[in-house]
Amino acid sequence: MSDRSIRSIAIVGGGTAGWMAACLLSQTLRGTGCAITLVESPDIGTVGVGEATIPPIFDFLKLIEVDLDAFIPATQATFKLGIKFDDWRAIGDSYWHPFGTFGVSIDRRPFHHVFHKARAQGLDPTAPQFSLAAALGDAGRLAHPDPRVPGPLAGLRQALHFDAVLVARFLRDHAERRGVRRLEREVAEAKLRDDGFIEALALKGGGELAADLYIDCSGFRGLLIEQALGAGYEDWTRWLPCDRALAAPTAHAGPPPPYTQAVAMDAGWRWRIPLQHRVGNGYVYSSAFIDDGAAQDELLSAIGQPLAEPRKLSFTAGRRKTMWSRNCVALGLASGFLEPLESTSIHLVCSGLYKLLDHFPDRDFASVNIAAYNRALADEYETYRDFILLHYCVTARDDTAFWRDRTAAPLPDRLAERLELYRACGRVDAKPGELFTDLSWFYIFEGMGVTPKAYDPLVDASNFQQVRAVLPELTARIAAVVAQSPTHEAALAAIVRRS
Ligand code: FAD
Repeated sequence: MSDRSIRSIAIVGGGTAGWMAACLLSQTLRGTGCAITLVESPDIGTVGVGEATIPPIFDFLKLIEVDLDAFIPATQATFKLGIKFDDWRAIGDSYWHPFGTFGVSIDRRPFHHVFHKARAQGLDPTAPQFSLAAALGDAGRLAHPDPRVPGPLAGLRQALHFDAVLVARFLRDHAERRGVRRLEREVAEAKLRDDGFIEALALKGGGELAADLYIDCSGFRGLLIEQALGAGYEDWTRWLPCDRALAAPTAHAGPPPPYTQAVAMDAGWRWRIPLQHRVGNGYVYSSAFIDDGAAQDELLSAIGQPLAEPRKLSFTAGRRKTMWSRNCVALGLASGFLEPLESTSIHLVCSGLYKLLDHFPDRDFASVNIAAYNRALADEYETYRDFILLHYCVTARDDTAFWRDRTAAPLPDRLAERLELYRACGRVDAKPGELFTDLSWFYIFEGMGVTPKAYDPLVDASNFQQVRAVLPELTARIAAVVAQSPTHEAALAAIVRRS
């Protein structure tokens, strides 16, 4: 330990982000003597509707040494093999963004290029035919419920749906067992030093909490990063105009499907997330195109009688201009917000934490280190924004003002370039390390009906007669795996029995 090491950390907020931060930081800093305190208000609730995740959630849970056999029952979790999009390209149309591999690489060319050639040759393939995850999802099955066990086909990946309130509770116990101190108090304000760094948190009713490093997980209000440090917000409403959500749970009407459903609506879209004990539903919409009452009517007519009154949430798409300012790092909703169409928010908490570890400061808080963190996270936010925007900007829908407006707005440059590249030759050029790979982009392009003019010329180097033979074999192999796989319901029941 250098004498400039961080000796204490204060985390403000006990939602998913706060407790995830407490778990990972206490895990990483154990043995260093660094004291971690999490302060959460007894009166300000959490958002608590973050329910769908993506496959790297398992890496995070493993890293903080969570026992999945305890976690899955405690959080009412179900498995997720991808997202099924209904009515996005056109009403009645449906497509998959499944996890895991697609087809097989032939002569080292990614399969989606082979797929493009097959289409050009008049074979009329469909993307879900070559995805095990999509085939399992449609059949309501899981290749193997335990992500620690490799599936029957390499490359199958899955994620979880869970009850975010129960997750925060689970992670709280986990973090407290590792020595994190919890204070149930409301922070009144942050006191600043002359150089603008946070000196201490003044607690409502008296008392202070001082630390070397502050983690702002206070939700949309950004108590430290915005209210105290004035980081500023980059507003992306011009691209992503949805600014409201109505969330309402319903009872199960059948076995829980192992996927998230995203159904396009008149002025936004609706999620359907199956948990063990209920179904989470919500309508993400733009208040510029529909009022709250009409949105509620539209939601209820789609989902039927809810188990509780619909809960309204307001937000602005975008991110803080700086997510790390001086001795404060913002995570979760305090750092920014992207509508949950691709379940990126909880992942952004993990990613912010990993980057924080990669740029972990000492008490000198080198500004160049902070700038590097901010650059990396801003870039990540922007690629997710572009990926979400892709689901809208090429729609063929023109039945409501909201949908007509989606194809009218100019696109961010990087997305416009990706669209042009794909249309020309079926390539995406996602950078190494980008969460959404070429394959993810392919699924959305394909699902939204964007077909490239040409395919990768190197695919012509393969013997196409052999390729023709491989395609039905692949589909048959996938069908065989599906036929012998347990249902999602049976797999969940086995885990709950074991716990
Ligand atoms: P919050 O849950 O808002 O927690 C804030 C905490 O700060 C609370 O504990 C509060 O008490 C505390 N606090 C605030 N002010 C003070 C104060 N003055 N003093 C002390 N404590 C204070 N993410 C996904 O990954 N998948 C999804 O499917 C998904 N769906 C979503 C749907 C909607 C409609 C919304 C709005 C978000 C969704 N998210 C989703 C995002 C997800 O909910 C959040 O990213 C995640 O829950 C993290 O929230 P948080 O902890 O940052 O904030």
